[in-house]
Amino acid sequence: DFGEERINSSGTNLHIHSEIEPFMNQVKHFLDNQWHAKPIIDGQEYTSDEEQVICPYDHSHTVGTVHKATEEQALKALTVAHENFIAWDVTPVQQRSALLDKVADALEAHKHELIALCSRDGGKSLQDGIDEVREAIDFCRYYAYNARNQFGHEIHLPGPTGESNSLYLQGRGVFACISPWNFPLAIFIGQVAAALVAGNTVIAKPADQTTLVAYRAVQIMHEAGIPGSVLQFVPIRGSVLGKVVLSDDRVAGVAFTGSTTTAHTINRTLATRDGMLSPLIAETGGQNAMIVDSSALPEQVVEDVIHSAFTSAGQRCSALRVLYLQEEIADKIIEVLSGAMQELRLGNPTDLSTDVGPVIDMAAREELQGHIEELKAAGKLISETPMPEGLEGHGSFLSPVAFEIDHINDLDQEWFGPIVHIVRYKAKNLDKVIDQINDYGFGLTLGVHSRNEATAMYIDKRARVGNVYINRNMIGATVGVQPFGGQGLSGTGPKAGGPFYLYRFATEHTRTNNT
Ligand code: NAD
Repeated sequence: DFGEERINSSGTNLHIHSEIEPFMNQVKHFLDNQWHAKPIIDGQEYTSDEEQVICPYDHSHTVGTVHKATEEQALKALTVAHENFIAWDVTPVQQRSALLDKVADALEAHKHELIALCSRDGGKSLQDGIDEVREAIDFCRYYAYNARNQFGHEIHLPGPTGESNSLYLQGRGVFACISPWNFPLAIFIGQVAAALVAGNTVIAKPADQTTLVAYRAVQIMHEAGIPGSVLQFVPIRGSVLGKVVLSDDRVAGVAFTGSTTTAHTINRTLATRDGMLSPLIAETGGQNAMIVDSSALPEQVVEDVIHSAFTSAGQRCSALRVLYLQEEIADKIIEVLSGAMQELRLGNPTDLSTDVGPVIDMAAREELQGHIEELKAAGKLISETPMPEGLEGHGSFLSPVAFEIDHINDLDQEWFGPIVHIVRYKAKNLDKVIDQINDYGFGLTLGVHSRNEATAMYIDKRARVGNVYINRNMIGATVGVQPFGGQGLSGTGPKAGGPFYLYRFATEHTRTNNT
C-alpha cells in the first residue's frame, strides 16, 4: 500500500483574486509579532543567554529572541529522551499515528502565524510559506498513515511445531534530528514526525538561523498531544551538539539535512564513539543540472529555469545550478532568459509582487557575492536582475544572476543562492555531459527538457540522481508523489515523503517463542 488513496492538504492559491485579501489580512495580523524561543525539556521551558533575531529582509526589525540551550540543558534533554524511550516505543502505533494526525490539524489551524514566521525568521515568500506549512502537514499525515501499515502488525514466519516466529519493527532509541534553515518548518517537522511515529524519542535541533519557526512548531506539537517526555527542543550550535550530544552513546540514530560537509563531520563524530553503532540518515546538497536539447520549447525552458534557479532566492537543495544547452538552441534561450531576468522583482518577500526575496543572512550574501565577483571579473556574466533603488543595505538581498562557464568542474562547490551557470554542449557529446554530471559526485535533482521522449528516457536511465524532472521545473517535491532525496554526495537515502522512509528509523525485531 503506497498510499495512492491519500489526499494531501490544500493550500491557498494566491493567483485567485478572492483568496488573496482574506489570506493577507490573516497573515498581516502576525507579521509584527514578537516570538521568544527557549529550550523545551521534559515539557518545561528553560532560559539562558538571549540572542536577538533580525529579519532577513528588514534589518531594522527585530523578530524576537532566542535562548540557546546550554551544554547542561542539552545533556538533560538527552537523559529525559533516553529514559522515556521504551515507554514511548511500546505505546500502540495507532496512538502515535493519531497524535501526528492531531499535529497536522493543529498546524493547519496555526498556518497564518507559521507563514508569517517563515517570512520574518527565514526570509521566505508568502507562497513559500504556504508550501512549507502544507508540506509539514503532509509529512505528518503521510508518516502517520505509513506507520499504521508498517508498524501496526507482526509478520508471522514459519517454524517447527511448537515454535512461533514473528518479525516486527521497533524504534531505535533517541534520535537526534538536525535540520537546515532553508525549510525551517517542513524539514524540521518531517524528521521529527518520522522519528517519533516509528517509536523513537527525539532531540530536535533547529538551524541557528530559523530557531523561532522550529520553536513554534514544537510548541504546537506539544499542545496537540505529543508528550514533553518524548520530544525535546534543543536550540544549540551544531558544533556544540556534536561535541556534547552526538558523541554520547545514548544517541541511537541521527537524521540530518544540511550540507555535505556537515554530514561528514557528523559521520566522523559518530565514528569516534566506542559504543553504540548508530546510523546516520543524511540528506545533503546538490550541484543540480538541467539538460536542454534542441527540440525543447525555449519559452517553457526559460520559465522553468527561472522557477528552478531563483524561487526561494535559489536556496533550495533541489535548485538548478548548471544549465546545459545544446548549442543549436543556446543563443535563443540565453536571449529570452536574459530578458526575463531583467523583469524579475527583487524585494520584500511578503509583498505579492515580489519574485525573489533575500538570502538568509549577510554572511551567506558575502560568500555568494565573492563567487559572483570572481565570475564577473572573468567576463562570464550573461544577465543580472537589477537591484531596486534603496533595497541594498535594507536586508540581505542578492540579485539573481546568470553566467556562462566552460565546464561543471569549474564550480568548486554548491553555491546556495540565486546563481545559474550555463554550459553549452554539442549533440554528439550528450553522453559526456551525463558522465560529467554523474562524475561530479552529487546526485540530487536533474532537469531534462526535450520533446524527444526517447532522449528524455535515455538521460533518465543513465543519470545517477535521486529525482529527475522532465519538461517541467525541478523543485517542489510533493509528499507521497515525488519522494525526495539523493545519492552520492547528496545523501544516504531513504527518500523523505516516500514509502520506505520510516523503515530507516526502525530496527527489525524477531521473536522466537517455543510455546
Ligand atoms: P548546514 O550543514 O550548515 O547546517 C545544517 C544543520 O546542521 C544546522 O542545524 C546546523 O546547526 C547543524 N550543524 C552544523 N554543524 C554541526 C555539527 N558539527 N554537528 C551537528 N550538527 C551540526 O546546512 P544549512 O546551511 O543549514 O543548509 C543548507 C544546506 O542544506 C545546503 O547544502 C542544502 O543543499 C542542504 N539541504 C539539503 C536538503 C535535502 O533534502 N537533500 C534539503 C534542504 C537543504
